Amino acid sequence: MKRYEDMKQLSCGAVVSGCAAVFHGETTDDILRQAADHAREDHAMHEIPPAVAQEIRANIVDV
Ligand SMILES: [Zn+2]
Repeated sequence: MKRYEDMKQLSCGAVVSGCAAVFHGETTDDILRQAADHAREDHAMHEIPPAVAQEIRANIVDV
């Protein structure tokens, strides 16, 4: 099984306290895209500010 090889993970709660959403992706960009969609739908954040994007990148971990 190689499904989870080289996967990255981001917990939205690391950036937005109290949020339970978790994203998985093969690349940082993949996760940033998912986080942007989620932020727009669930956090009413139409655009992710650079400071938040930086925080997101800092909280992406390899799984
Ligand atoms: Zn969230």
